[in-house]
Amino acid sequence: EMAPHGPFETGFYSRSNDIYDERRLTLMSDLKEALTNGTTELHYQPKMDLRSGQIIGFEALIRWQHPERGWVPPIDFIPLAEKTGVITQLTHWVIDQALSDLRTLQKIQPGLGMAINVSARDLLSAGLEEQFAQSLARHQLEAGHVTVELTETAAMDDPEKGLEALGRLSALGLRISIDDFGAGYSSLSYLKQIPASELKLDRTLVHDIQASDSARVIVETAITMGHTLGYQVVAEGVESGQDAARLKAMGADLLQGFCLCRPQSLTATVDWLEKQRQPEESRDASWSD
Ligand code: C2E
Ligand code: MG
Ligand code: MG
Ligand code: MG
Repeated sequence: EMAPHGPFETGFYSRSNDIYDERRLTLMSDLKEALTNGTTELHYQPKMDLRSGQIIGFEALIRWQHPERGWVPPIDFIPLAEKTGVITQLTHWVIDQALSDLRTLQKIQPGLGMAINVSARDLLSAGLEEQFAQSLARHQLEAGHVTVELTETAAMDDPEKGLEALGRLSALGLRISIDDFGAGYSSLSYLKQIPASELKLDRTLVHDIQASDSARVIVETAITMGHTLGYQVVAEGVESGQDAARLKAMGADLLQGFCLCRPQSLTATVDWLEKQRQPEESRDASWSD
């Protein structure tokens, strides 16, 4: 489970930043410890079908409460975990925990899906598909209920190997999702070679659709392009009901965002899902029809 190279060999250590780098190394050894002693947690954010209003699945998002530093946001440790190779151990843990929790959620609503974020380094390291296969078997889940999310730039780190690895994941039956679309610089000709089922429009793209005509045109174009390439299109980071209604009118298929629900613990997710399934309850998503 250890990194193939120590952090000193990957070149991120530099003399000019001794103190800063020592802090980062400590953070990484704390993270490894947290992953083994169970102090990292997964929170879940629902994904909704905009036409039916049904919850179709959840995305797993890692949360880490550091004993001294308190809550550390993913942006402060995921990139470093990628650089040092700790991401391999992290992703391994995330896959098994998320699939174990999916089994719990499917008891409330059969057929629910789970999306797991993976990095370029995971994709290019051997054994990712074995980890998925083993966890699917352990928790008796169908591969088609699991989505692998990766950013367009992650897939392009090593385009040829990346496509090969994605082909293997897809052959296993997993769904592939291109995350944060519009935030990177992928070429459309590369994009269309990815065996993806889903395109997630980045939050920054979705953010301005009320205020700006050009943002609206860009989102509309991205939705049309996604559909032309055969993808389901997800709008992520949608904060207002107004935006959600607009995105629905623009033809987006799925929605995620604070307007529907913030990421929350498994226990809170179970309660929330049970409430959503009671028809007499007034729904959070009252704008959806
Ligand atoms: P992402 O995969 O694009 O995840 C969406 C991020 O947007 C999450 O941030 C989520 O909490 C946030 N979000 C969702 N709805 C809204 C909204 O309406 N408004 C706003 N402002 N934000 C919203 P989070 O959890 O901080 O994660 C940030 C990034 O860290 C993720 O972006 C993903 O790239 C990475 N990450 C998180 N968990 C994992 C993990 O388990 N493994 C890996 N490899 N990366 C992870
Ligand atoms: Mg994601
Ligand atoms: Mg995203
Ligand atoms: Mg994002």
